[in-house]
Amino acid sequence: MNHETALSKAKEIADRVLAPAARQNDKEGRFSSESVEALGRAGLLGVMLPVEVGGSGLGPGTFANVTATLAEADASVAMVYLMHKCAAATIVAARQGASVAQILQDIAAGRHLSTLAFSEAGSRSHFWTPVSRARQNRTGVLITAKKSWVTSAGHAQSYVVSSLAPEAAGPTDSVLYLVPASARGLSVAGPWDGLGLRANASAPMILDDCEVSSQLQLTDDSAGFKAMLEVVLPLFNLGAAAVALGLCRAAVAGTAAHLKSARFEHLGQTLGESLPTLRAQLATMQIDTDGLSTRLDDLVDHLERPRDTTMLRVLECKAAAGDVAIAVTSAAMRVCGGSAFSKHMNVERLFRDAHAGAVMAPTGDVLREFISRVTLGMPLF
Ligand SMILES: Cc1cc2nc3c(=O)[nH]c(=O)nc-3n(C[C@H](O)[C@H](O)[C@H](O)COP(=O)(O)OP(=O)(O)OC[C@H]3O[C@@H](n4cnc5c(N)ncnc54)[C@H](O)[C@@H]3O)c2cc1C
Repeated sequence: MNHETALSKAKEIADRVLAPAARQNDKEGRFSSESVEALGRAGLLGVMLPVEVGGSGLGPGTFANVTATLAEADASVAMVYLMHKCAAATIVAARQGASVAQILQDIAAGRHLSTLAFSEAGSRSHFWTPVSRARQNRTGVLITAKKSWVTSAGHAQSYVVSSLAPEAAGPTDSVLYLVPASARGLSVAGPWDGLGLRANASAPMILDDCEVSSQLQLTDDSAGFKAMLEVVLPLFNLGAAAVALGLCRAAVAGTAAHLKSARFEHLGQTLGESLPTLRAQLATMQIDTDGLSTRLDDLVDHLERPRDTTMLRVLECKAAAGDVAIAVTSAAMRVCGGSAFSKHMNVERLFRDAHAGAVMAPTGDVLREFISRVTLGMPLF
């Protein structure tokens, strides 16, 4: 598979599987297993995995474009995809000796969905400081933790879980473990009934003396933080920005379609023909959407050819994307008026979905704090 075929497969699945069911899945808060199956069958779950394990070895540009394409049809599925990609990258980067070969083959074959279980009830959005602490036992560790939100909870085949190392001396001395869904002591702790991204099962999970063998320890003790920063953060921020881009594109398309079809019968004109103020707002939406697209391209370039400014771009891209998605979908709500408010069109779902990005960690506020620290030459932590 190459970049173009990955994109055309994503578009075909978005049109055939995601788009027709998005409204109903959102309404019912139903996880779209059939979307994950379709992505797996098409080889898109393993699109970034190395060729040696059966993946396609494609880069961040393909990942971003596939994610945006999925988000245009259903941002819930795009978020499931994004979390899986972050987890898969962490598994690929596992320390030497970790027993992950079979899981990587299963991901490449489209049979295995993974996700991240970082955020904890105790440290909230500060995922880099888990409050749970693994306890050493004979074969590995026992983990007891309250994970506050886990996308694909109860649907993934494995979870990349963070916890403080047994001998952690500081708050960021964490470890990442791979916990199979079948592990004893791992359970979904409640329902997911969010404002937006309602179809992605981002429920809380509990680990209760959950035993993880040392073969499924993905990082060395205290090296979890480094993996979060170097492996997960760049991909997660790029993917979150891609979800935002998909939402913006869908909002522009939905708004344009409404302005061309809704009519003032007494004036004999469509809304778009009649009102320059609506046209001006649509133009602003288009400008912001294309600006975000350019920002994503720039981040992809920085990830493909790392340089001094790469981390700054990683931080900026998600911060900007969160704001742009809220602004563009808010404008769509206003331009489409009562039709949007009364849920006659998909714009209100996009508006609700768009609000997740800024509160998903690292949140927009935290990113601003980091960006200003980088700008002032201060340490991030
Ligand atoms: C749809 C969805 C899916 C999710 N999926 C996952 C997942 O798969 N895996 C996972 O690990 N987590 C997941 N999360 C959790 C997410 O990443 C955040 O941890 C969570 O949204 C934080 O919410 P909170 O109420 O705990 O935030 P709080 O930490 O209570 O933050 C409240 C407010 O304070 C601000 N704030 C916090 N710290 C600072 C600071 N230092 N400086 C300035 N402002 C600050 C925040 O920006 C926010 O506005 C998901 C969340 C959502 C909504």
